[in-house]
Amino acid sequence: MIKEPMLDPSLMEDSTPEILVPDGNAAEEIFSGGTGLTYRDYLVLPGYIDFHPSDVELETRVTRNLKIHRPMISSPMDTVTEDRMAIAMALIGGLGIIHYNNSIERQVELVEKVKRYKNGFIEDPIVLGPHNTIRDLDMIKHRYNFSGIPITEDGTRNSRLIGIVTNRDVDFEKDRTIRLSEVMTRDVVTAKEGISLTDANQILKSSKKGKLPIVNEMGYLVALMCRSDLKKNQEFPFASKDSQKRLMVGAAISTKMEAYDRLDALYRAGADIVVIDSAQGNSNYQVQTIKYIKKNYPSLEVIAGNVVTTDQCVNLIRAGADALRIGMGPGSICITQDVMAVGRAQATAVYYTGKYAKKYGVPVIADGGISTIGDMANALAIGASTTMMGSMFAGTQETPGEYFYENGVRLKKYRGMASLEAMEAGGDKRYFSEDQEVKVAQGVAGFVVDKGSMFQLVPYLLQGLKQSFQDMGVRTIPELHEALHSGKLRFEKRSYSAQIQGSVHSLHSFQSPGIGWEPSRRS
Ligand code: GDP
Ligand code: 5GP
Repeated sequence: MIKEPMLDPSLMEDSTPEILVPDGNAAEEIFSGGTGLTYRDYLVLPGYIDFHPSDVELETRVTRNLKIHRPMISSPMDTVTEDRMAIAMALIGGLGIIHYNNSIERQVELVEKVKRYKNGFIEDPIVLGPHNTIRDLDMIKHRYNFSGIPITEDGTRNSRLIGIVTNRDVDFEKDRTIRLSEVMTRDVVTAKEGISLTDANQILKSSKKGKLPIVNEMGYLVALMCRSDLKKNQEFPFASKDSQKRLMVGAAISTKMEAYDRLDALYRAGADIVVIDSAQGNSNYQVQTIKYIKKNYPSLEVIAGNVVTTDQCVNLIRAGADALRIGMGPGSICITQDVMAVGRAQATAVYYTGKYAKKYGVPVIADGGISTIGDMANALAIGASTTMMGSMFAGTQETPGEYFYENGVRLKKYRGMASLEAMEAGGDKRYFSEDQEVKVAQGVAGFVVDKGSMFQLVPYLLQGLKQSFQDMGVRTIPELHEALHSGKLRFEKRSYSAQIQGSVHSLHSFQSPGIGWEPSRRS
């Protein structure tokens, strides 16, 4: 990439006038005053540019102990995050939280799909035996979406490798009852246990095979490597991974009794993070759940919430929360603030909770109400370590659900977890209303336009975010937060007319760039 030449600041030093007139406001001044602000009610004043957008580094803490390279999380909603979204988010360097509007078995299956998706060495590969049939292979393909399966003598992992079967061995076979012993490849290229990842990768490259089983002295299968992972590693250098190089994934649980079984199953399936998904997080139920998790699953990171005030943070941080999810009612599908008269304007909520939680080393997640690149930048600038989005990612190929056409526009469903239809499907656990006879909706169901693939959308958002950081004159999120809390980062409130002026105006018509932007004010 060709970098544009930058002006050398030292050339200017002698003639730079001293700043005698303080300009703009520190965040504290902007947010004090008793009026709740949203991301569109203020702007960050520009800083000094002496670097290129490509120098911006977006690494951040998602919880106390886990870092990701991109400050983006997909929301645990049943029209947003299942396996495909979580895989995409992790590959891109963010994180997906699998929703819990499903059975424990189904949520575990989704988490497993993510954990199995991309590996260095797959230490617990799915295996079959010579007596299994092609139909068994079809079932694995259907459940996990892969078909390269090692065949061992007795069909278990602790047994001698005798062959391998892949889609190509069976795809033209009409009779699915044929035994795998008849179709498998017996002459398998293998590597010995103890081989380094680099050497194993080298064998995969030179053998030109799709799979490399790793065997021990006795020829027993101990692991499997996939050529497709080699390619993925090259393509996604920022992928969020655990210590075993598997993709990172989070999963939502409630604070109900059912959550304890769910939690255990999710932990066993390899979830890295659990999100206690509650609309009002400051509750005895949540405090007990956090304590239970910290005591029984100390390696599991816990995101608690949702909260919007410093008071609400106190109990959750004290109980051991590793991150806090901030937001009550700002989401695009939310009607909580209108229906319940409880909540808080989102920017004010993020600023105050972030400032408080920082003292305890607990990162905050700005959840809801983010529909432009500018909203993301604003959330990070006022103290959020990551942003959580539903509507921004809704309508992409990676979300659950089918596309359909309305008046020639390709749409997908996006619904609040407290919409009546989502509650009927089980989403009411979040709103303490699963055992209520009369259900009061706190969300709506709607439709969003087709946004294409996450693999096109997210690079666009990231590039925009990096340019925004350049405008603010900061290269990293920690640097941004330091400037925020020291008062170096300056802000200004926007009057109503400033918002109109700051958006497209005075045109008869124009073409919207669509994703990543929307008018500040709709007239
Ligand atoms: P296949 O050729 O149909 O097996 O599929 P690919 O090799 O293109 O993709 C398989 C993906 O699933 C890779 O990213 C693997 O790391 C991942 N995976 C996770 N667990 C397993 C497993 O037990 N067996 C296989 N074959 N792949 C697995
Ligand atoms: P969005 O990104 O669409 O603006 O907001 C997504 C966020 O809204 C979710 O992460 C979650 O916190 C919140 N949310 C999801 N469903 C509902 C709902 O039905 N009602 C309310 N009040 N909030 C919801």
